[in-house]
Amino acid sequence: MIEMQDVWKTYPDGTHALRGISVKVDSNEFVYVVGPSGAGKSTFMKLIYREERPTKGQIFVDNFNLAKLKRRKIPYLRRNIGVIFQDFRLLPKLTAAENVAFAMEVIEAPPKLIKRRTAEVLELVGLADKKNSYPSQLSGGEQQRVAIARAIVNNPAVIVADEPTGNLDPDTSWGIMRLLEEINYRGTTIVMATHNKEIVNTMRKRVIAIENGVIVRDEQRGEYGYED
Ligand code: ADP
Ligand code: ADP
Repeated sequence: MIEMQDVWKTYPDGTHALRGISVKVDSNEFVYVVGPSGAGKSTFMKLIYREERPTKGQIFVDNFNLAKLKRRKIPYLRRNIGVIFQDFRLLPKLTAAENVAFAMEVIEAPPKLIKRRTAEVLELVGLADKKNSYPSQLSGGEQQRVAIARAIVNNPAVIVADEPTGNLDPDTSWGIMRLLEEINYRGTTIVMATHNKEIVNTMRKRVIAIENGVIVRDEQRGEYGYED
């Protein structure tokens, strides 16, 4: 599903964020990416959804060769990858339903399908009754559920989640994790960067640890492994 071969990322200011990453993630896996701040986790995630390009090396995501991907083909890749952020990144002037529908409008899905599918995913994330609320009227956990609905609405093969529980209290975080686990059971590969030790050590999955731009640990049913 995802494969990186000796991937390096050096930012224009000379910062070496990733230094020779090689990794494979199979379809249906759920992977935590852990490591200290500045280790390269966000860069690793950004390379997967093609927000950044590698300086060197090959990246394959869902049969797309990202190094060769033409700019005009990026929307096709994005359709196959749902992204979730710590700060939700909803459009403030759109309702919950409009935020979700927007992700289908940009890929020019037919209006009838947009309506049906938007209702379906809002139901799945438990927010059918909040569909007409604006982000400012929703709690943090609810906003993240809308973001998850938006991420899955186009049935992506992969979900990339960068610290999805970073702004949420523990109870709300567990709710979000149960939802991500459910989405994973339904067949979506999930790659999630996190600093949440409690979640990683309880909901055991594969753990990839990155430090100073290299993978220092990669274990099935791994542990968080840091004190913070
Ligand atoms: P993490 O997500 O693990 O905190 P990042 O991938 O954000 O790590 O950052 C890895 C390194 O790259 C850090 O030293 C960070 O300061 C640097 N970095 C991240 N983004 C940029 C950028 N756009 N330009 C320059 N350096 C960056
Ligand atoms: P949490 O403590 O989990 O962040 P909140 O206290 O923010 O939750 O919200 C609790 C409930 O009140 C949620 O269902 C949310 O949708 C609703 N709510 C919060 N703020 C507003 C608002 N400004 N207008 C309408 N409903 C709101």
